[in-house]
Parts: sequence; structure tokens; C-alpha cells
Amino acid sequence: MASDQSWKEKYLQALESSDSREEQWQTERNTLERMLVRTSLASEGQSRELDLLLARVRKDLRKKTVDVEAWRELQEQIDRQVALLDEHTEAKQAQASSAPSRDSLNSNAEVAPVASIPGDDRDLADNSGRLRIAQRVGQLLGQLLDQVSLDSVAEARARELQRVLLSSDDWNELREGLNYVAELVITAVNRSRGEFEAFLKRLDERLALLHEHFAEQSTAQMDRLSASETLDQEIREGMARIGADVRDSEDLTQLKASVSRHLSSIGDAVGRFRDKETDREKVMSDQLRAMQEKIAVMEANSEQLQSEVRRERERAMTDLLTQLPNREAWQERLSFEFNRWQRYQNELTIGLLDIDLFKRINDGYGHKAGDRVLQLISRELKASLRTTDYVARYGGEEFVLMFPETGPDAALVAMEKLRQRISKLPFHFSGEPVSVTFSAGLAAFRRGDSEEAVFERADRALYLAKDSGRNRINIEDEDASQ
Ligand code: GH3
Ligand code: MG
Ligand code: MG
Repeated sequence: MASDQSWKEKYLQALESSDSREEQWQTERNTLERMLVRTSLASEGQSRELDLLLARVRKDLRKKTVDVEAWRELQEQIDRQVALLDEHTEAKQAQASSAPSRDSLNSNAEVAPVASIPGDDRDLADNSGRLRIAQRVGQLLGQLLDQVSLDSVAEARARELQRVLLSSDDWNELREGLNYVAELVITAVNRSRGEFEAFLKRLDERLALLHEHFAEQSTAQMDRLSASETLDQEIREGMARIGADVRDSEDLTQLKASVSRHLSSIGDAVGRFRDKETDREKVMSDQLRAMQEKIAVMEANSEQLQSEVRRERERAMTDLLTQLPNREAWQERLSFEFNRWQRYQNELTIGLLDIDLFKRINDGYGHKAGDRVLQLISRELKASLRTTDYVARYGGEEFVLMFPETGPDAALVAMEKLRQRISKLPFHFSGEPVSVTFSAGLAAFRRGDSEEAVFERADRALYLAKDSGRNRINIEDEDASQ
């Protein structure tokens, strides 16, 4: 009976374990079914065919019973669709190998490793991506070193770092190096900015000096002003372009080249200005020389003209026959002396002289003999009088005399001497000795006198001298005129 007992126990145990296995299996099946449903949902959207197959999977799972035969076929269809999708994905990756694919359906699909960011070094697959980045940074560092200037220590360190980045496979070394690259870039930019600022400052000073120089020059004259303004504007525009480039440019080498270009264009503008200025100066100096020559000619002409005028005036004021001042000259001299007399009230006496019976000479010995008498008497008058005295031919055989600073009595003395000299001149006409005499009247300026009034008094005195026998000098009758 023990064997029955044993069998029964074994049966019960087997039943029990079978129940628990079934229960476990059921649990596992449920889990698998849920996962399958989720996976099928997650895998949707790849292709329409696959979506239909996955929908069928989920529908069968809900029936609680599985048609094994039908499922084997379903699985084959799903495998084919997945294989088609993989082929499609590989083709796309070949087209754009750099872009990481997100088309992978499951872990079996061959997908290119996604480039990961530095610091994420959890697996070896990521390392090749990081090394490629390090190499790229090494290349960039090389370009940077070509473009910026560093002090020699930093330069040596940067070159060493570049070598490491290009060749090393030690990620820690690379990561440390990358940090230094950032530091180097900042140093280089700051240093270069300092250099560039100093360069710009020097440039600005030079341009300011230039500007100042031309601003000073520009005040010199209007013509130059406009040229200088043009230059000034060109310089300002050049400066503005430099300013714009400084603001816009990130590349120092380019910036330096551009500033140099602008500077040389400003230099060209200055050159053009200088050339124009030289031309202008030449034109001006030519004009000046031509003008000076013209002025010299004009001055010479003017001098010639003036002396001609002087000569002409002298001719106009001189009596042709006797070469004594004529009536016009007398009138002018009389006005001059009258004004002086009015101002200073010094004594001033005039005399009127008339040759006695001159008509007879003309009539007896001819007109030429008369002319000769006039000439000789004129010479005697000029020779006998003081230089301060003045004598003119008033007309015909009449002469007028002026004695500045002289009263009538002193004038009478001088006239008397003259009368005696002339009366003794040895004239001979037609072999006969002829005596020539004159009569004269004197009058002195008095308070309130006019030129005409004095002349009239002298004329009256002359008339009286003639009337009382000729060959005599008569002073105006003061009582008669009063
Ligand atoms: P009196 O003593 O009264 O002055 O007598 P007179 O003859 O001098 O006076 P009158 O006025 O009658 O004559 C002046 C003469 O002088 C008349 C004129 O022909 C002459 N006569 C005037 N001018 C000239 C001249 O330039 N040359 C000559 N040869 N004679 C002249
Ligand atoms: Mg007369
Ligand atoms: Mg006369």
C-alpha cells in the first residue's frame, strides 16, 4: 500500500506543480502578450503592410487562443517587412552617412553610432566619435594659430596641444586640452584686440593730424577750401568705412587688411589733393607773375602818361614866345598865394607891368622886332627877380608880378631896380639904338581883399603911372580905394 500512497503523493505533487507551472506560464504569457501589444504599437508607422500585420497580432492576442500555424505564417510576413525596412534604412544612411539614423526598428538593425558630446565616455563605441571631434578641434586650432598672434610661450603650448589633439587617443588628455583651447582663444582675441586698438589709435592720431593740417590750410582761400572740404569728406568717409569694418568684422587679419586698404585710399586722396594744390599754386604763381608784369607795364605807362600830362600842363601854363608862365598859370599861383595870405596874413604885393608905347616898336621895326623885345624883357624879368618872386606874361606886352612876404614899398624897390636895368638895355633896330621902358602899378593885399580887387587896384596904379608920363612905377592910392 505504500507504493499506492507513494504514487498518489507523487500524483498530487505533480498536479500541484503542474498547477503552479500553469499559473506561472499564464503569468508569463500575459506579460509577453502585454509586451507584444506595446511593442506592436510602438513599432507602428514604419510601413502600412507592417502596421496591418501588427494589428492582426494584437487581434489574435485578444482571442486568448493562438492558431500556431497561422502565427508562424504571420511571423514570416512580419520578418519580411522588417527586412524590407532595414534595406530602406541602409540606403538612406549611405546617402547621408554623417546624419545619425533614427529609422532603426529594433536592436538588430545596423545603425551608425550617433556622435556623442564630450564627457559621455560610458562605452568604447562613443570613443571613435569623440576622437573625430578632437581631431576637428585640432584642425581648427591650427587655423586659429595661423590667424592670430600669441606670445611665444602660448604659441608653443598651442602647437603642442594641436599635435595632441590630432594624434592622441587618450580621452582624458583630450578633454583637458579642449579646455585649454577655449582659454587660448580668449587670450588670442584679447591680445589681438589690444594690438588692433593700438593700431587704430595710431591710425586715428595720424588722420586727426592730417585733418587738422588740411583744416588749417583750408582757411587760406576759397578755392582751396572746396578742395580741402572734398579731401576732408574723403577722409571722413574712409574713417567711417574703417569704423564700419571694425564693427562688422570678426577676423583680425581681414580687418587689418581692410584698414590698410582704407588708409591707402585716404593716402591717394591726399596725393590727389597735393597734386591739385601744386597745380593750383603753379597757376597762381603764373597768374601772379603775369599780373606783376602787367602792373609794371601799367606803372611805366602811367609814369609816362603822368610826365606827358605834366609836360602838357607845363606847356599849357607857359607862354610860347617868352617861356614865362602864362595868364592861366598866374591865376593858379595867385589863388595859391591868396589862400596862404588869408591863412597867415603875411604881406603880399602884386605888380602890373606894361611896356611903354610898344605899338611903335611893332610899327617902326616890325612884329618880329617886337617879339624879340618881349623875349629879352622876359629874360631880364626872370633873371632880376628873387626865386620866391613870380612873374607871368599876362597878355600882349603886359606882365604880372607877385612878391610874397613883401610889402608894397619893398616891392617898389625891386621894381625900380628892374625898371632901371631894362631902360638901359642896348636895343638896336635897323642900326638905331632904341630905348625900351615900362610902367608898373603895385598893390598890396589888405584885410578883406579879393584877388580881383587887388588886381584892379594894381591896374589902376598902372594907369596912373602911364597917365603921369610912363617909365615909372606907381603904388596904389590907398586913400582912393578906401
Ligand atoms: P602904352 O604905352 O599906352 O601902353 O602904349 P602901347 O602902344 O604899348 O599900347 P597899345 O595897347 O596901344 O599897344 C600894344 C601893342 O602891343 C598892340 C599889339 O600889336 C602889340 N602886341 C601885343 N602882343 C604882341 C606880341 O605878342 N608881339 C608883338 N610883336 N606885338 C604885340
Ligand atoms: Mg598894353
Ligand atoms: Mg603898352
